Amino acid sequence: KNDKYKLGLHKSRETLGNLKKLLEEKKTIDEDLFDELEEILIMADIGIDTVLSFMADLRKEIDVKSIKEPKELQEIIVDEMFNLYLQDEVVIADLDYKEKEVNVYLFVGVNGVGKTTSIGKLAYQLKKEGKKVLMVAGDTFRAGAIEQLNVWATRAGVDIFKKEPGSDPSSVIFDAIVKAKKEHYDVVLADTAGRLQNKVNLMKELEKMHRVIKKELPDQPSETLLVIDATTGQNGLKQAEVFKEATDVTGVILTKLDGTAKGGIVLAIRHLFKLPIKYIGLGEKIEDLVLFDIEDYIYGLFS
Ligand code: GDP
Repeated sequence: KNDKYKLGLHKSRETLGNLKKLLEEKKTIDEDLFDELEEILIMADIGIDTVLSFMADLRKEIDVKSIKEPKELQEIIVDEMFNLYLQDEVVIADLDYKEKEVNVYLFVGVNGVGKTTSIGKLAYQLKKEGKKVLMVAGDTFRAGAIEQLNVWATRAGVDIFKKEPGSDPSSVIFDAIVKAKKEHYDVVLADTAGRLQNKVNLMKELEKMHRVIKKELPDQPSETLLVIDATTGQNGLKQAEVFKEATDVTGVILTKLDGTAKGGIVLAIRHLFKLPIKYIGLGEKIEDLVLFDIEDYIYGLFS
């Protein structure tokens, strides 16, 4: 089992750990217990809607299996969490990758959620796997963003394509892809601007990026990854929704899970967005990005 999860989720273990305690201390399954359970799940940021459907399923299971002891509930709860997350899909959803092609991964999300950091961490992993990686500084609105990405490129030991601040982001992506094709890069990791102030502009910009990518590489981007900060909770999900509406998101990278007690957000994302979580961030260091695995995750929370 993956101890990285257990360590990284230490804060969430405190909230959801109360659940275990509650089930051990309670003598009977009654409305009181249901109320307390509900409260713990809401505290863990699973989201009201998700909690309500979760509780309804739980009551049904208790009935069907004629469960009498609170102790027996723990296994049922863990099973319900699996079911809620899986929705008939594979447990681990790695990034779509094709050999001998330029694979473009576009990163979208609000400023500050951890896009640059996640690009840096992923670049480091891909490079270790022997892949030729090109980072693209597609957030041209902030000079700081370009500089920051440059720092991560050096750290990860990969190349970066950048232009002057203020350049048209689509032209940056376009030129980067021409270079990637010519020089046989395996992966292009493209940063984008996360300004939410103007939704129409944001949509137009992301659409244009998709268009210029497709012009050079018709099958790309193979992933558009929505980066979400776990510490911003339900509010962060509202902001993330704008990006989901603006572009064809294929998966989520959930950052800063080490910094929150609200690890239930994983289930809220699944319930709300119906998107697979591909990677999670469990710290600020370059190796702190791990492939998401719901089994390791639930084990990390409860064991
Ligand atoms: P961007 O504006 O979306 O590109 O965000 P950045 O990549 O610059 O990250 C913003 C802050 O979040 C930085 O201080 C990062 O160190 C921090 N950060 C990013 N990912 C994680 C994570 O998984 N865990 C923790 N603890 N901090 C993170």
